[in-house]
This record gives sequence, structure tokens and C-alpha cells, in this order.
Amino acid sequence: MALPDINRKMKDCRKCRLWQDTKHVVPGEGPATAKMMLVGQNPGAEEDKTGKPFVGRAGKFLNKILSKNGIRREEVFITNIVKHLSPENRKPLPDEIAACAPYLEAQIKTIKPKIVVLMGKVAWQAPRVDGVTYVETYHPSAAMRFTKMRKRFEADFNALKVRL
Ligand code: URA
Repeated sequence: MALPDINRKMKDCRKCRLWQDTKHVVPGEGPATAKMMLVGQNPGAEEDKTGKPFVGRAGKFLNKILSKNGIRREEVFITNIVKHLSPENRKPLPDEIAACAPYLEAQIKTIKPKIVVLMGKVAWQAPRVDGVTYVETYHPSAAMRFTKMRKRFEADFNALKVRL
């Protein structure tokens, strides 16, 4: 399925409750031919306002780590396992993750990246597609706050550039 078709399905999705209190669906952005995909948890308030992934504080931190390691944000596809903001920014519930994960799977199957980086425990639940290498790291919000996690997060991105 082509990305615009997947985007339309996400926009019209009513498989869980999350769409009700949101301004935008946040499908993700980046080239349809990206070699690397980055997957977070779900959009926050800034992302809901703009319809773009990782544009708030965590996104700014992520941009910094990417550029520090020679990875251009425009060359990677950035998305989330859940495509809508949740009430009070709570963690998505298991049924919400289950309802939304097939969209991520469709995105991975269409883009066919070499590497998918799963950022944070919720993203670690992403569906696995054959032939794709998955890397599990921390969520940028956690890496931003805790030194130990930041070091590991930076080291993971440092190792990624070489594998592309
Ligand atoms: N946190 C996420 O997990 N995803 C975003 O898009 C923004 C913040």
C-alpha cells in the first residue's frame, strides 16, 4: 500500500478512542525510500497541534543527537507506534497499541527500511517484519533527563550511522 493510502486510513481510523480529543493524526514524515525509521510512543501536544512527529522538546533533543552523529533528520522516516495524542499525555493502553500497530507494520512494509529504531518500551512492542533489523533504545524524553540513558542513547545512534 502506498504511504498516502496508509495516511488516509490513519486519518479516518476509529478503531480506538484516541482520535476523539485530538486536532490531528500524526502519521509520520520522511522519505518513502528511507533506509532508517525511528519509532516513538505517540504524539504529544506539539505534535497534535502540527500533525508532525517529534517537534516538541523530545524532538529537539532527538534532532541534536541525530546531527551529532551525522544523520540528517530529512533522510530518516520518523513516526510513532500510536498515531494520536492520548488524554493528558498518558501512556497508550494495550488495546490502543494493538489497534494502531498494523499501520506501523504497513509503513514498514512499504518503506522497507534497513533498520528500524524503536525508542522506548512502548515502541519496543512494534510488529516485526522479516528482513528488517530492529534496534531497541530509550525514548528521547528519558534520554534527555537521565545521564546513564543519554549515554546509551548517544552510543546507539553513533553505532547506527556506520550500519547504514
Ligand atoms: N514523543 C513521542 O513518542 N513521539 C512524538 O512524536 C513526540 C514525543
